[in-house]
Amino acid sequence: MKCILCSKKAIINLQQGWLCKTCFLDYFEKKVYRTIRKFKLIDKKDKLCVACSGGKDSLTTLYLVNKLATQQKQSLFALAINEGIKGYRDITLNSLKLFCKQHKIDLKIVSFKSEFGHTLDELIKLVKSKDIDITTCSLCGILRRRLINQCARKFGANKVVTGHNLDDEAQTILMNFFKGGVELAARLGPTSGILKHAKFIARVKPLYFCSEKETKLYVKLKKFKVNFRPCPHRKISYRAFVDNLLNKFESKYKGTKTSIIKNFLIILPLLKEKFAVNKNIKECKYCGELSKQEICAVCKILEQLRIN
Ligand code: SF4
Ligand code: ZN
Ligand code: ZN
Repeated sequence: MKCILCSKKAIINLQQGWLCKTCFLDYFEKKVYRTIRKFKLIDKKDKLCVACSGGKDSLTTLYLVNKLATQQKQSLFALAINEGIKGYRDITLNSLKLFCKQHKIDLKIVSFKSEFGHTLDELIKLVKSKDIDITTCSLCGILRRRLINQCARKFGANKVVTGHNLDDEAQTILMNFFKGGVELAARLGPTSGILKHAKFIARVKPLYFCSEKETKLYVKLKKFKVNFRPCPHRKISYRAFVDNLLNKFESKYKGTKTSIIKNFLIILPLLKEKFAVNKNIKECKYCGELSKQEICAVCKILEQLRIN
């Protein structure tokens, strides 16, 4: 197959046709920077915190956003949360440490163990022993999002950049429609969240229109050292189920994921308007973090586990 743009040997078949290595890299990077410009994800004055796991999406985001931040002379640091998942997170964090060293990026690592007194592995055992109704990924997500927001603020950032890609977003949209509640979907989009509050740091997603397949290829072509193995807890998650379903759709009906995203973006402004939460937001009576209830989700779960 030949590249539709330059006639060299093609390596990937995208919706618009086959592309060679050079044209693919150019197309991918232009798409990321176009997303940043179109949705005004990054302002020159922003102090950026790139939330990183050390996986392919976060390293790609870190690489491209750091390039932009260097050109624009703006401050940036990488933030990693070590949940404490034995045999997994230590490996991805090693890739991240190496990457940050090579690219001279300031890296801050915060752990569940230091902040909550327990690793995720230990918390899962506690959840089981107390028969608490929460999945591993929900627990991990609630605690990780808290630490990212809190630490980004503590280290002086006014914006968190995340590596969520098109596949992640399409999954989350469906998960919210299927189960989580449409109100949660209002928090999605290239800029996440519906809160405007000094304690809430806005989150942005430059890989919003980049698929899993494209990001995987980008990382391979750029020769980033990445562990492609997923988290051991992922396979039993609701997300993995939805992911499989979407992949089946995509292989039979090409463009399904993009179509979900494009149509979702049309209704997103209406959802944001309907579910604006600013007026209902409070500060948690235990930790002072933002919450819709008197006690935030983190304090609730820690209370149930009796570890606060
Ligand atoms: Fe956490 Fe689940 Fe993601 Fe693993 S797959 S890092 S447990 S949210
Ligand atoms: Zn080409
Ligand atoms: Zn709280």
